[in-house]
Amino acid sequence: MDISDSSQKVALGHGSGGAMMQQFITEQLLPALGGQSAEGLEDAATLSISAADIAFTTDSFTVQPLFFPGGDIGSLAVHGTVNDLAMRGATPRYLSLGLIIEEGLPLDTLRRIVQSIGQAARDCDVIIACGDTKVVGRGAADAIFINTSGIGECGDHIPSVTAATPGDRVLVNGTLGDHGVAVMMAREDLQISSAVESDTAPLHTLVGAMLEAGGEAVHTLRDLTRGGLAAGVNEIVAASGVGITLEAATIPVRPEVGGACEVLGLSPYAVANEGKLVAMVAPEAAEKVLAAMRAHPLGRNACIIGEVAAEPVATVRLHTPIGTTRILELPAGELLPRIC
Ligand code: MG
Repeated sequence: MDISDSSQKVALGHGSGGAMMQQFITEQLLPALGGQSAEGLEDAATLSISAADIAFTTDSFTVQPLFFPGGDIGSLAVHGTVNDLAMRGATPRYLSLGLIIEEGLPLDTLRRIVQSIGQAARDCDVIIACGDTKVVGRGAADAIFINTSGIGECGDHIPSVTAATPGDRVLVNGTLGDHGVAVMMAREDLQISSAVESDTAPLHTLVGAMLEAGGEAVHTLRDLTRGGLAAGVNEIVAASGVGITLEAATIPVRPEVGGACEVLGLSPYAVANEGKLVAMVAPEAAEKVLAAMRAHPLGRNACIIGEVAAEPVATVRLHTPIGTTRILELPAGELLPRIC
């Protein structure tokens, strides 16, 4: 069977379908992910970890379209889990990879996704230690769903969503809303402004630089994925029992993202990012951490956008450029489905 034939599609069940997938896994998936041979595959991987504490997380990725400006579902599935580990100050070490593939997915598409996963894992210096592939019938999944779990090694200081403290400065590492708008525009085939690219990126080296500069003064880190900045800061004020006041004029949003959000009826503060974080940093260390962020390629546009307040508890206030104050609510419902 010629699995390099570009007309081939993933097929369900026995016979040619099962044999084809097996051949694909052996000849293409395993080499793309790290060069293991099928003969050497054990039932479970064994991992060597030296840290006293490990961070462990899981996430599933269902983005549609599978390929979008700036990334694809494969790199997203690696970055998303690496970033969740990074938010606890952990060095990402191992990922698991689960693929749920819909019958009929072109083999070429699967090949591109798997190569992207392998490249992203190498870029992040993480090992894909175990995995699983299932093919389901037409309509039982939409093209492909990916699950990644991740294990990372914690350092001496573990930032927490419960640790934001009144007086902390609120920092972000760059422009907001890029990923969600890039996916929406690719999906709707909207040509309403110049191209917007997803910001999908692994944040662990940026976090490493922030922790080196600020140490224990970096109280809280949150990646701004689904629900964007609005969800991130609302989750922090609820968990830490504090309030946050943000200055809208200081929150970076690309003009083309702001314009697209206006057309789509969205707030750029509630749109998903895949390479952005918010940090709560003690005031005496904030400028030093900000400088470390700006010296990193993924933090060039970092800025301070507000401050943690003692009151009102569990509330995010937004000062607008025209001098009014409004409450930045937790985004209600599923505003943007299938964004990650
Ligand atoms: Mg997260």
